[in-house]
This record gives sequence, structure tokens and C-alpha cells, in this order.
Amino acid sequence: MNTIDEALVLVRPAIRKMAGYTPGLQPGPGQKLVKLNTNENPYPPSPRVLAALKEATESAIRLYPSPDAHPLRERVALTYGVTPEHVLCGNGSDEILSLLFRTFVDRRDTVAYFDPSYSLYPPLVAMSEARVTTIPLPRVREARELGSIPLPRLRAKIFLLTTPNSPYGVAFPTEWIRQFLEVFKGIVVADEAYVDFAEESALPLLASSPRLVIVRTLSKTYSLAGMRAGIAMADPKLIRQMMKVKDSYNMGRFAQIAACAALEDQDYCKKNRDAVVTTRRRFTAALTRSGCTVLPSSANFIFAVPPAGTPASALYEALLARGYLVRHFRAPTVSDGLRISIGTDADMDGLARAIEEECRGNQ
Ligand code: PMP
Repeated sequence: MNTIDEALVLVRPAIRKMAGYTPGLQPGPGQKLVKLNTNENPYPPSPRVLAALKEATESAIRLYPSPDAHPLRERVALTYGVTPEHVLCGNGSDEILSLLFRTFVDRRDTVAYFDPSYSLYPPLVAMSEARVTTIPLPRVREARELGSIPLPRLRAKIFLLTTPNSPYGVAFPTEWIRQFLEVFKGIVVADEAYVDFAEESALPLLASSPRLVIVRTLSKTYSLAGMRAGIAMADPKLIRQMMKVKDSYNMGRFAQIAACAALEDQDYCKKNRDAVVTTRRRFTAALTRSGCTVLPSSANFIFAVPPAGTPASALYEALLARGYLVRHFRAPTVSDGLRISIGTDADMDGLARAIEEECRGNQ
């Protein structure tokens, strides 16, 4: 008899053993929740995005897209002051990270990152049957303290630097990254998904650092999470290697059109970014008044540890019951806090009141 077990033994052992990535909960249809768990932008994308999509002709569907997203690479180059040859585009920056693993990480190679970092890295390591070295990331009170944390001294093929960090929100100063590139001899991936909400980026280091890869997304500042648009910027010779391992048409036509239109409208994007940063400051102040410890954030979310007497897991459940979906990670280094995306002022004021009531009730 043919059984499913006979099929399952054919799965690569590394895949059978691994847990797989746990994405943030997506509410079902009709479920009314204020969704603050996956760091989406609360505002719609630039009106130019919808206009460009509406204008797309029937060939947008019938014909394959540009295999290397050429018009988008030209737009990215103009936006960030590089050449199109420095740019690779993909189906979200998650795909870009996968392509980096395919390009650089062999079985038993070492991949390194701070703990905590973006929670997609462990499944990517497991899939590649690589080894991992993690370095504990200290919690700082002031953003500038991060500039004086010791440079990790280690040998690894690739170091994934989530900056600003997720879930902590703190950003590594460019000078720290520059010094790290001097002591670390592997590939440094600056995963800058949230960098537009920060003050600094590693981009100025690109011209002099052939081992640096900058990863960006249009999911956050540009409000295109549903479109799936990610970018890698690196030395053209590295980009050429990465191009070899991508799917032939790895980014759909609509995603390319939407991403181009969003990048063209920098004024709109900056207005949204400034609104999110202003709300982040107000919300941080409100949570601090409720007794929470909030880490300094350079992102569109904050990491908050509730006061003694209010465990983060219980607060997560209480907020969910009140209609607010935030993120609680079970990993021991971060399970004492909640990661909360910054939404509209109205949403964040309501949430701050809810948190205040929950924390006061437990005193
Ligand atoms: N990097 C980091 C640090 C992230 O938090 C995310 C979003 N979950 C991504 C990359 C991936 O973003 P996307 O695939 O939407 O571009």
C-alpha cells in the first residue's frame, strides 16, 4: 500500500526537522482588530501607485514582466544615488534574504547575527543546513549607547545585521557598521527594512565596502507590504552573482509598476514617515507614563516591557480581547516585552489608554 509516510521520508531531513517561519497573525475576514503586529504602514501608498496600476494595459498581465525589473532598478538607482547594476529587486526583502543564502551560504557555513534579530533568519539557516553563531544584543537606554557596544570578533560567512533591529527598534550608527566591516571578513548584510524611520543608513559605506549588501523593502515606508517589493544594493559584481540564483521572473509586473510609482513620490513618503515618527514619540511618552520600559526606537514600532505585575503574555491577551493585535514573541530573550507597530494617532491613543488601564489594574 502507498502511504504518506513513504512520501514524507523523501523530504530532506533538514526540512523535516525545522520548524518553519511563524508569520505574524493575519486576522480572518470579518475579524475587526486594530492590526499592530507586523509593522505595516497605517497610511495608504502614494495615490500615484493606484494611478500607475490603473494605467497598466492588458499586456501587464498577458506578457511576462522585465526579468531583472530593469525600469525599477533604474528608479532605485536614481533614488539612492547608485547605478542600476548595483541593484537587485525581488518579491519582498524576504526573497532577497533567501537569495543571499542561496548565493553565499553552503552547508556547514557559519551565519551570524545578534539575538534578537529578524525571526526569519533561523529558518533560512535551517534550510541551508548552515551553522549559526548568535551574539546577545544588550538593551540600551539611549540610542547612542549602541555605538559603543563591542564589535563582534568572529569568523562567519555572513553577518545579518538587522538595523534598525527588530524587535528592539534600535539602529546601529553608520560609524559602528564601518568599523565592523574592518574587523569582520565575511559578507555584512545590513537588513534596513525600517531604516527610513531612522536617522542614518549604511548606504554611504557601499562605495568603499565590496563586502556590504544593503537590503531594503517597500513594505514599510512606502506602504506596499501587499505588493511584495524588496531591494538589494551591493557591488555590481556581487549583484551579478545573486542574479544567477533568482527565479527568472521573480517580481511581477504590478509589483514593479507599484514600486516605481511609490519611489517617484518621495514627498508623499516623507510626509507619512514624519507622521509615523511623531506618533511614535507620543505613544512612547504615554507608555512610559504607564510604567512601561520602552526601548529607544528608530523604526515604525516600539518594544515595550510592561511594569512588574503585568506579564507581557497576559497583556498581549488582554489587548487582543480589547481588539488590539500586537506581537508577543515566545523566545526567552524577548518574551518579557511586546512589539507594537505604530498606527494612526487615534489607534495609538486608544491602545495607550488600554495599556494604562491594564497596567493600573494589576498594581
Ligand atoms: N527584514 C526585516 C528586519 C523585517 O522585519 C521584515 C518584515 N517582516 C523584512 C525584512 C521583510 O519584509 P518584506 O518581505 O515585506 O519586504
